[in-house]
Amino acid sequence: MLYKYETHLHTSEGSKCGKNTAAEMICAAKEAGYTGVVITDHNWGGNTAIDRNLPWEEYVNEFCKGYENAKAEGDKIGIDVFFGWEAGYRGTEFIILGLDKEWLISHPEIKEADIEEQFRLVKKDGGMVIHVHPYREEDYIPEVRLYPEFTDAVEIINSAHTNPEGNHYEPMFNERAFEYAKKHNLAMTAGSDIHNTGLLGGGIYFNRRMKDSRELASAILNREHEALTDGSTIWSKRELEKEPTLY
Ligand SMILES: [Zn+2]
Ligand SMILES: [Zn+2]
Repeated sequence: MLYKYETHLHTSEGSKCGKNTAAEMICAAKEAGYTGVVITDHNWGGNTAIDRNLPWEEYVNEFCKGYENAKAEGDKIGIDVFFGWEAGYRGTEFIILGLDKEWLISHPEIKEADIEEQFRLVKKDGGMVIHVHPYREEDYIPEVRLYPEFTDAVEIINSAHTNPEGNHYEPMFNERAFEYAKKHNLAMTAGSDIHNTGLLGGGIYFNRRMKDSRELASAILNREHEALTDGSTIWSKRELEKEPTLY
């Protein structure tokens, strides 16, 4: 039995580009067979739905509503919901896993942190940093910038790059990310980067159920995944280790 986790999903509560509410996203994810979902709304440095000028604690309270609504729905219908966020730095984006709302409230310095400082702060308290879609080219990303020394894992499979219905279709963006992760021996993740209920099916398969986002983060770091998928192709761990290319 395998357990499937969506690691990259947006809600309309937290992300300006989110098309569906957290509850709608969670119902769709349950329907699609996921064991769990990480809510990764865009933070203050990205396409956040919240007024960045709010006092910090108020900002965090608003920002976490996507997760909280998703969690309430998940508890009701039986799907695990974990907290994360997508941190933006002029278009270069990272998913932070393994920390919670209380951590955000008590670390307002994260708002002004650069990429190096983000890594230090997140790691100090047991979180992890995943560089997502590192090779995506779009108008909102002025340049590809890589930070292997401040990254724990790389999103090598982003379904928006391989599904023609995704909004950033270009499979080479994933191929390059795969090469990059291998070159620096970084852990690997897969996610859909989905903003609506037309889920793309991306995610990570494990052979056990994770109890919280901290456990999921350490399973990713320890490379305990059984397989990664973009929703149409499934790559086993062995294939990922042996095959020189994805496509
Ligand atoms: Zn978005
Ligand atoms: Zn995203």
